Amino acid sequence: MRLANLGGRATLIAPGGDDRGVDIAEASGGKFGPDVQGLYDEWDAFRAFVADLDSSTMATATFDQVNLCAPVPAPRQVFAIGINYRSHAAEAGMDLPTVPATFTKFPASITGPFADVELPNGTVDWEVELVAVIGRRADRVAAADGWAHIAGLTVGQDLSDRHLQLAAGAQFSLGKSHRGFTPLGPWVVTPDELDDPDDLALGCAIDGETVQDGRTSDLVFGVSQLVAELSAVVPLLPGDIIFTGTPGGVGFARKPPRFLQPGETLETWVEGIGTIHTRFAAPAGDRHAG
Ligand code: ZN
Repeated sequence: MRLANLGGRATLIAPGGDDRGVDIAEASGGKFGPDVQGLYDEWDAFRAFVADLDSSTMATATFDQVNLCAPVPAPRQVFAIGINYRSHAAEAGMDLPTVPATFTKFPASITGPFADVELPNGTVDWEVELVAVIGRRADRVAAADGWAHIAGLTVGQDLSDRHLQLAAGAQFSLGKSHRGFTPLGPWVVTPDELDDPDDLALGCAIDGETVQDGRTSDLVFGVSQLVAELSAVVPLLPGDIIFTGTPGGVGFARKPPRFLQPGETLETWVEGIGTIHTRFAAPAGDRHAG
């Protein structure tokens, strides 16, 4: 199942097509939706409803993908994990962590899969990430049971202002939470749609030039292990998201370093899920100058 947020309305993507969907509020007679975020609070009931839908008689409508919004628009908690790929630890010159290096991206920084994002300065970097969405409250969950608490997976960019991230000691959360720094989408895919949800290719490209190209099998702490490690400390709530970390190929580790520039477009993908597009603009003050 693929669940999207089409202009604020929960939409089921029709099997076999990326531009046809079913409005969930209409299909359920108002039982579910149109709000997307609330579906994660009643995920098991929603899954049962979708399983009973007769796809041959569903009323589908064509839509334009640019009208998609973030499929998890307002999570209560956003977890993000640093140094969680062996390839990224190596390029950053860091030892592999023994506990997940955890920070947050403040939820108001979330934006959709076809967003324009303002660059606040010249030190903004890219990080493709697999993002896991919680579908069942997780409190002290064993790693073996981690996947049972996941509603699905989506594609994220952990855009990072490296200057602010490393200022004042290392305040990761603020430097990763500028307006629009958390693009998500294009939809949430349930794990059963994937041959092996623990081994997915992922990457990103700037104006068509691939800069990251990895596999989630390189994760130090995989999705189920992260559910265990995080829920040992604090309960994970339905609709929360986990940015699971980024593989090698980020800009700051390059010689010389490379950062995103106004006018560039970043394409970010995860195998079996989809691709998001982020276009960058100069700060508003600069654009108005002259
Ligand atoms: Zn990251």
